[in-house]
Amino acid sequence: MTAYKRVLLKLSGEVFGGGKVGVDPDVVQKIAREIAAVVDAGVQIAVVTGGGNFFRGAELQQRGMDRVRADYMGMLGIVMNCLALQDFLEKLGVETRVQTAIAMGQVAEPYVPRRAIRHMEKGRVVIFGAGMGMPFFSTDTVAVQRALESKCDVVLVAKNGVDGVYTADPHQDPTAQKLDQVTYADAMARGLRIMDQTAFALCGENKLPMVVFGMEPEGNILRVVQGEKIGTLVSA
Ligand code: UDP
Repeated sequence: MTAYKRVLLKLSGEVFGGGKVGVDPDVVQKIAREIAAVVDAGVQIAVVTGGGNFFRGAELQQRGMDRVRADYMGMLGIVMNCLALQDFLEKLGVETRVQTAIAMGQVAEPYVPRRAIRHMEKGRVVIFGAGMGMPFFSTDTVAVQRALESKCDVVLVAKNGVDGVYTADPHQDPTAQKLDQVTYADAMARGLRIMDQTAFALCGENKLPMVVFGMEPEGNILRVVQGEKIGTLVSA
């Protein structure tokens, strides 16, 4: 038995790059194995990838670029992560569709929500790329929006280097404590930084649960889907 029927997995760009610029094929292969295990368990899964391993609009803006153009560069970077993930999933025999919010017919389908649901019902992994297709948004917000529109039961936020939500930044504050569970209201009142504020508010308002957990050890994505209590559950 699994805890969820349909899940939305958010992977930040950082995960794809293994901490560097670009895509680390070994890392993507490992992620693909984990997603394949979720499909094998009979759970429908869609993925939203970030793009911070290539470009972040706000960072390029600080270095003199126009924000809008920089954000579009960010969105194009995201698509490269999607294609890498698609490739490794298909090598494992998992059927996959990439849907992008910016039309690019040669490499992906356009974003069509009802079609995305249909793909998932057929056991295909849907990878949503190019963010929302609009500057000034983050892929955190996209993850929540796509999860809501495609009727996912939960948003799974897989992190690099941290295994859940803490009372403070565990890399800076040695007294920080990991929380097993927290409500959206409590997290907001305490100023806990989990996703960006827009994403977080959208999730809370729509009572969509979120599980924040670490990518390590391998197999954690399946563990969460099977209902094992790892990471932090954020709920309304
Ligand atoms: N981006 C955007 N609109 C969106 C999603 C993303 O403009 O709907 C741009 C933005 O510049 C962002 C970059 O794409 O910095 C990469 O996305 P994000 O920073 O969310 O990636 P992550 O931090 O998850 O790797």
